[in-house]
Amino acid sequence: MTLNPAPNSFRTGPDERGRFGIFGGRFVAETLMPLILDLEKAYADAKADPSFKADMESYGTHYIGRPSPLYFAERLTEHLRGKAPAGQGAKIFFKREELNHTGSHKVNNVLGQILLARRMGKPRIIAETGAGQHGVATATLCARFGLKCVVYMGAVDVERQAPNVFRMKMLGAEVIPVQSGTRTLKDAMNEALRDWVTNVSDTFYCIGTVAGPHPYPAMVRDFQSVIGIETKQQMLEMEGRLPDSLIACIGGGSNAMGLFHPFLDDRDVEIYGVEAAGHGVQSGLHAASLTGGRPGVLHGNRTYLLMNEDGQIADAHSISAGLDYPGIGPEHAWLHEMGRVTYLSATDAETLEAFKLCSMLEGIIPALEPAHALSKVMELAPTKPAEHLMVLNLSGRGDKDIPQVAQIFGQTL
Ligand SMILES: *Cc1c(COP(=O)(O)O)cnc(C)c1O
Repeated sequence: MTLNPAPNSFRTGPDERGRFGIFGGRFVAETLMPLILDLEKAYADAKADPSFKADMESYGTHYIGRPSPLYFAERLTEHLRGKAPAGQGAKIFFKREELNHTGSHKVNNVLGQILLARRMGKPRIIAETGAGQHGVATATLCARFGLKCVVYMGAVDVERQAPNVFRMKMLGAEVIPVQSGTRTLKDAMNEALRDWVTNVSDTFYCIGTVAGPHPYPAMVRDFQSVIGIETKQQMLEMEGRLPDSLIACIGGGSNAMGLFHPFLDDRDVEIYGVEAAGHGVQSGLHAASLTGGRPGVLHGNRTYLLMNEDGQIADAHSISAGLDYPGIGPEHAWLHEMGRVTYLSATDAETLEAFKLCSMLEGIIPALEPAHALSKVMELAPTKPAEHLMVLNLSGRGDKDIPQVAQIFGQTL
């Protein structure tokens, strides 16, 4: 659906009110406004300060392990060419964010926000987490810089993600189980926002994806854009030209925005985002906010949300706790309506097939989140010519998912 003529650039947003078209903004209590304005100003100052950029690059290199490789997935490419008509089958590359310290892309954003909290002189960091990956990344950087860390996590997720809860505690974080609502990620985020209002002076709220009130969606996107910036440069070095397509999974949408954003004005590059279809979008048990939701307001911004007929936020379902969020970043909602990015969805069953295939063919056990995107690579690659260059964002490694997958396959550990 294209509501507006294509703009001259897809990379200029958000506007000064934090809007991407009708999406985004800051729908927050008056008491939060001063905090958000402070943060906006501090981020603008940091962005203009070469020493902030230098710190990001230095810790990025020596602590996170950047740049992450762009890897030609040769056996997967050959396997899918075997299923394609003669002369067809894209050449597939993985952007290997799973090799970062703590095992996913989350740490790119957390590094940026923690360096910002230090500049602002905030000694106490709060975060929300679902599967625990953002909580672990936050606890890690708080340990590194000697900051107090409090992580809000739905009580149901605390039960489901015991190894990550233990990791956070080992790193010195306090994990607070949230008992309200469905006791999952959206309730943890509500609770973190409440904490922030009550602890105004010393606390920095580190949000884990491109959601929340402005400036978070744009700031998190900027910190994650290192993924796309590196990919562009690496592909130019390897193949002498830009990729033909990009594909990434979407929970809130931060790993996807990070890969996509530097390419949005390269109009020949096809871009695909993959939401979690759970048991199927028709079943009602899914987390596909764009495919199966409608616009509303949650957690400080206007975006596509899963809602029931009364406008109450509906439960999200996905095999992957990291995609189990009933909303999506507002910039994705806008890119969807502008028609610049194509949004697809993958079911739990399709995801498990891709998880197995990647492990067996490439010797890389992916997290269940990027396995969603990989299942769409399996569909798209055979329809493309052999010279087509396709990049999958491999956002995280599968270690955290081993107990769950073993159980699904009927194995005991
Ligand atoms: C958290 C997570 C996601 C989903 O979050 P986005 O903000 O959509 O990127 C995807 N992959 C991995 C490995 C994650 O940990």
